[in-house]
Amino acid sequence: SDTPYDVVIIGGGPGGYNAAIRAGQLGLKVACIEMRETLGGTCLNVGCMPSKALLHASEMYEAAGREFAGLGIEVSPTLNLGQMMKQKQESVTALTKGIEFLFKKNKVDWVKGRGRLKGKGVVEVEAADGTTTTLKTANVVIATGSEPTPLPGVTFEAGKVIDSTGALALDKVPEKLIVVGAGIIGLELGSVWRRLGAEVTVVEYLDRITPGVDSDVATAFQRVLTKQGMKFKLGAKVTGARTSKSGVELTIEPAKGGEAETLKGDVVLVAIGRRPYTEGLGLETVGLTTDKRGFLDNDHFRTGTDGIWVVGDVTHGPMLAHKAEEDAVAAIETIAGKAGHVDYNLVPGVVYTSPEVAWVGQTEDQLKAAGVAYKVGKFPFTANSRAKINHETDGYAKVLADAETDKVLGVHILGPQAGEMIHEAAMAMAFGGSSEDIARTCHAHPTRSEAVRQAAMGVEGWTMQA
Ligand code: FAD
Repeated sequence: SDTPYDVVIIGGGPGGYNAAIRAGQLGLKVACIEMRETLGGTCLNVGCMPSKALLHASEMYEAAGREFAGLGIEVSPTLNLGQMMKQKQESVTALTKGIEFLFKKNKVDWVKGRGRLKGKGVVEVEAADGTTTTLKTANVVIATGSEPTPLPGVTFEAGKVIDSTGALALDKVPEKLIVVGAGIIGLELGSVWRRLGAEVTVVEYLDRITPGVDSDVATAFQRVLTKQGMKFKLGAKVTGARTSKSGVELTIEPAKGGEAETLKGDVVLVAIGRRPYTEGLGLETVGLTTDKRGFLDNDHFRTGTDGIWVVGDVTHGPMLAHKAEEDAVAAIETIAGKAGHVDYNLVPGVVYTSPEVAWVGQTEDQLKAAGVAYKVGKFPFTANSRAKINHETDGYAKVLADAETDKVLGVHILGPQAGEMIHEAAMAMAFGGSSEDIARTCHAHPTRSEAVRQAAMGVEGWTMQA
């Protein structure tokens, strides 16, 4: 119909689909444009979900081979990579179909094709067959997401020099995998292939892994990954890659300068980060430009142009699915005349390796840099009964609280299920809670979550650590 839309959303990832569904729920007339064949964006198709499918399956495989015998369960697992990939794809398909169902339920028009701004209030959609449709709308939400950042001097080549999408779909286990970038994606996918049998070396420019993660936690995490057999080359700069029939030769040199060396692998995974995606979006037709790094700026989700909003990976903040979701809901609620708000300090971060790393709020590094006086409570899983009984004692929980007010400023956990455990901390912080509040909250015994309580007790000086 020619009735203009209230909102047209460009992009069907966590930013776009959450915006679309929330708009539908609030009774707005809404369309969501997606150029992929399926909804769900990076997260559902080639990001969060397929990576978690492989992390889960490979974790089970490794446990069956290494840990079961110690529990008195004797099996000798054989890898069926085809089936592992098949179950991953089936789950992904079920999830993307789920979004399709939610679109129908909430009266969202899914417009298939590539969306392009054509001046204020107009979006043109080009379908795969070249036909175009023009949508008129009061508001546009840009939710076009991000793509892997390429590495200068290194050309992608299917099956040999790959990005995260390639690493989710290898058809055989590489003997030697080199991961460039010790960030979350590199360590997660590196862990998958190490568990399945690859010898994995991670090359990182910085002299630490997981930049942004509390450095004390990052050090402990690296120690655990090393114990698992992952190799690290930190402070190393990749200067080139040469592919041949037999694999890839990667040239690296010390970041601080020095002699170059060559690393040989069957596959190189480039995972140095992601960059915002705005290709062919027609930003110039509405007077918008991106910043130096390609991001669209926003002030409470408003771009500089009236009626054009932006959410998710394509704008500032952590490039995470749940952050995109928060942005989306707040942006739509603002469009609908409500009060949308996101507290970016309370967006949890999780590395879904085994053990997991999870955090919320400030790191010690940030508190030190800001000159904030804080107290620390730390509790190791070696002293947690549930962890002990499960033979999963790697890691610890750490609570950081304001030295004067006791307000919780940050919580950091290294250990299995840390990603599930972090939310009690996020919740306490959302309510402005103190570490004493956590310490005085009854926690079920025996649970790993007791370690968080004990860490909070540590801040108070009454921990029960042996
Ligand atoms: P996207 O998900 O990138 O969606 C944007 C969509 O817009 C895409 O589908 C694209 O096709 C479409 N699009 C772009 N331009 C146009 C156009 N002009 N017209 C029509 N359609 C267009 N985050 C987490 O929180 N947890 C995780 O565990 C996690 N794991 C990850 C693992 C991997 C391997 C990767 C790569 C990412 C992971 N992420 C994770 C990050 C997460 O996927 C992103 O933060 C999230 O998808 C961002 O959502 P978005 O909606 O902003 O963008």
